[in-house]
Amino acid sequence: MKKNLKEAYDAEHFRKEGHALIDMLADYLEDMQDHPNEHKAITWTNPEDSLEYWEAEAEMEKPKSWSKWLMHIVDKSVHLHHPHYMGHQISPVLPMSALSGFVSDFLNNGMGVYEMGVVSSTLERVVVERVAKKIGYNDEAGGVLTSGGTLGNLTALLCARSLKASTEVWQTGSDEQLALMVSEEAHYCVDRAARIMGWGEAGIIKVPSNDKFQMQTDLLPKYLKEATEKGIKVIAVVGSACSTSTGSYDDLEAIADFCETNDLWFHVDGAHGAAAIYSEKYKSVVKGIERADSVVLDFHKMLLTPSVTTALVFKKVENSYKTFAQKADYLWNQQEDQEWYNLAKRTFECTKLMMSIKAFTGLRYYGEEVFDEYVTTVMDLGKKLAKLVNEKKCFQLAVEPQSNIVCFRYIPDENMPASMLNHMNDEIRTQILMMGDYYIVKTKINDEIWLRTTLTNAFTTEEMLGNMLRLVEVLGTNQTRSRMLNY
Ligand SMILES: *Cc1c(COP(=O)(O)O)cnc(C)c1O
Repeated sequence: MKKNLKEAYDAEHFRKEGHALIDMLADYLEDMQDHPNEHKAITWTNPEDSLEYWEAEAEMEKPKSWSKWLMHIVDKSVHLHHPHYMGHQISPVLPMSALSGFVSDFLNNGMGVYEMGVVSSTLERVVVERVAKKIGYNDEAGGVLTSGGTLGNLTALLCARSLKASTEVWQTGSDEQLALMVSEEAHYCVDRAARIMGWGEAGIIKVPSNDKFQMQTDLLPKYLKEATEKGIKVIAVVGSACSTSTGSYDDLEAIADFCETNDLWFHVDGAHGAAAIYSEKYKSVVKGIERADSVVLDFHKMLLTPSVTTALVFKKVENSYKTFAQKADYLWNQQEDQEWYNLAKRTFECTKLMMSIKAFTGLRYYGEEVFDEYVTTVMDLGKKLAKLVNEKKCFQLAVEPQSNIVCFRYIPDENMPASMLNHMNDEIRTQILMMGDYYIVKTKINDEIWLRTTLTNAFTTEEMLGNMLRLVEVLGTNQTRSRMLNY
């Protein structure tokens, strides 16, 4: 073997760098948790500067220690383990789950067929069945893991199409205008799924939401009737559990009733919030989820698992075999032909990450109790932040939170024009991003700009939430002053 290649696989070198890296990451974790005030949650760099930096870096001489160089990446990344991280919905991973991810990367078992992932394919079934049980399904349930909620939702809807369309779409295509119904607050990937399936704009019927940003389920019959009269065949309703912007849970019981009455597929997009099934205190928000035909749940959002790890669970596992098949093929629906262990039959992915190992680590090593504690803690934090927001006159809460997502805005004067309020909150959020002490994001609700937080780090305290709000208030006050001067 040539020298370079031989050295590349040197076990001793790997051992040394690996030990060093773990030590540095452990120090990092400790530091983030114990001394948050000495670290930024994010070091902001704009895209052009970042590009210039890393292009220069790529030209430099090879670093002696790759583990040290990797810490350089850690340094410049956003720190989810920092308790001031309250931005997007991804969770700070459990350390052992991250190590499991490392093993997955190292082994690189491809998983397209059973033989290429004997353990991970089997564990995938074990994980999905645990989730199915927690959802409240009986033992007819099952499913797969997919690379993210976006792909999971599309897969579920393809299955719905296969079962509910009048023709054999998979085989012959279709002239039929198919459609799904979903709240206007739904994640954009549901809209995208309908368009990917060729249904166009008419294929996505957006049901208005109420003042809590939940689907107005009493409007479903009217919208279905209107669609039918136009010759549109509605095949499914998608419930959001919860919505992305404000974390609002649709009334899943009401949607289940409607779908049962009208023979529609009921899919729950629980990418973010289906994890509530693990919280004894809060699981009532997903009441009715066990009546859905399919559920998507992201392990990387609220179950502390590395991205991307998504469970797509079907009430009847036999349906999962119909996703990428024509109806005639259902004839091979006998147990022995289903081959639960050859996962690519039911997933988009051919080669796939060994994601089951990461999810299984959470369930087996830490246990469901940790998921319960975590989901309950961050949902409690949502309530605490809402309370603090409500106590201050200069803040407005978008809606009482049902999850760990809380939207609010700075509003110094009720009579301030909408455009100025938008601009101020936008500016506040930009300043917070530049400062980096806290990481929060923003969202648009009814064309208004709101500050948005996802309380995703269980080490975040009420005191930190108070400090974050004080910072928002100070930045807001400064802006109000300078605006007055400019009048
Ligand atoms: C995050 C999210 C998605 C997308 O999931 P990915 O795992 O990011 O692909 C879909 N739906 C909802 C409600 C979400 O919050």
